[in-house]
Amino acid sequence: MTGDDIADFKSLKDNPEGFKDHKKTLLIPEMNRIGCRLLAASFRAFDVDARVIPTGKGLDLGKEYTSGKECYPCMITLGDILSFLYDEKERLGNNFDAGNYTYFMPDASGPCRFGMYNRYQRMVLDSIPSFTDIGITSLSSDDGYSLAGVIGKKEIRQVRKIGFLSVVTGDILDRLLWKIRPYEKSPGMADEFIDRAICSMERTFEGYGSDRNIDNVLRRLDMIIEEAKKIKDPAIPPKPKIGVIGEIYLRSHTIANQDLIKTLEAYGAEVVNASITEWVNYTAYDALRKAKTDLSLNIKQHRYANMLSCLKDIVRFGLVFFYQERVQKHVYRHVRELIDIEEDHAIGDMENILKEEDLFSFDIGTEACLSIPAAIEYVRHGFDGVVNVYPLTCMPSTITSAVIRPVMHRAKIPYLDTPYDATAQPGRESDIRTFMYQAYQHKGNKHN
Ligand code: SF4
Repeated sequence: MTGDDIADFKSLKDNPEGFKDHKKTLLIPEMNRIGCRLLAASFRAFDVDARVIPTGKGLDLGKEYTSGKECYPCMITLGDILSFLYDEKERLGNNFDAGNYTYFMPDASGPCRFGMYNRYQRMVLDSIPSFTDIGITSLSSDDGYSLAGVIGKKEIRQVRKIGFLSVVTGDILDRLLWKIRPYEKSPGMADEFIDRAICSMERTFEGYGSDRNIDNVLRRLDMIIEEAKKIKDPAIPPKPKIGVIGEIYLRSHTIANQDLIKTLEAYGAEVVNASITEWVNYTAYDALRKAKTDLSLNIKQHRYANMLSCLKDIVRFGLVFFYQERVQKHVYRHVRELIDIEEDHAIGDMENILKEEDLFSFDIGTEACLSIPAAIEYVRHGFDGVVNVYPLTCMPSTITSAVIRPVMHRAKIPYLDTPYDATAQPGRESDIRTFMYQAYQHKGNKHN
């Protein structure tokens, strides 16, 4: 596949719709640092004034405007947007107008509270008179995050493509960092290198809208990887491999998870975290799956009038899913020729694992569908331990823990639950240290 095959963008400059018409600033909350910055750069490629809002410093505001029953990510993201708006108000004085901003908060249906974040945050923003005019953009995972309602219809296809590529590229840069940091020649080299790599990749994405060529991104990745390899000290022996699963926000947001990956690395781990693309692919796969189920129900019940819309959905979501997997495989294949970063999990394989092991079902939904088979894949790929990270009281991750813990026990794989809230857990570090001791034993036993 060439860049031209998958990147037939038409610049938004030729189609003046969406944010740039309104001159609004699109505010993206930070979840995974690299991917969010590349996503904002992707929007900027199409003249949308997008920026990632600073995260963490508004936590006290988040606590002030929540009751404690909300999920921890809701508290953090609410604090981030409030803190940003208060700062902007102070900076701009009388020129501040909340109507100049649109806040990007994805939506999801199902049994999880995630679908309520943006509704609750809307209520809070409406309760503060100078913030009521801010818009909230919500994308429902029902339609595989179609971007409908965020930008003009004509641009959806183009922005989806570059946005998806930014997510995949963000995952790869994360995996590169986790691959080199445990083996860096001197402390801090890998982090400092990745900070520079993010900036250069942002510039590549900002220029992407004009020439619409994936090859520029791949070339930039090549250069970054070749430089990154020089940071590794070949004298450091391989370390135990730890796979991280869990709730997407907590496992991606380093402040929320109190820098879990770095703590694991400090005790001698090489870590692979589940990717963001995994969730994006899952939403498209799940929408396709539901459309197929609806079709077969309508056939059984002789409701022929509904069948056409089911068929349309099957084609629509099928194409989206096929496109995403194709691009992801293409980029990973390219990168893995240069460095052996971990392959990403394929969603179809994950559903098959659940069926084979008879542990859970995609019919139930939630991130447990991904976390349970991901843990099993880590075991099958020879990892030395699995960590489940999640917000305290998170329903899908609690289910994951209940299902996967006995499986890990039977497989004799060290396993650790790490729930987080806004407090410091006194025994957490000793838990991690003990877990890493077991992981080293596991790695040693494999060679005896
Ligand atoms: S996945 Fe967990 S943390 Fe996220 S909204 Fe659902 S219950 Fe809350």
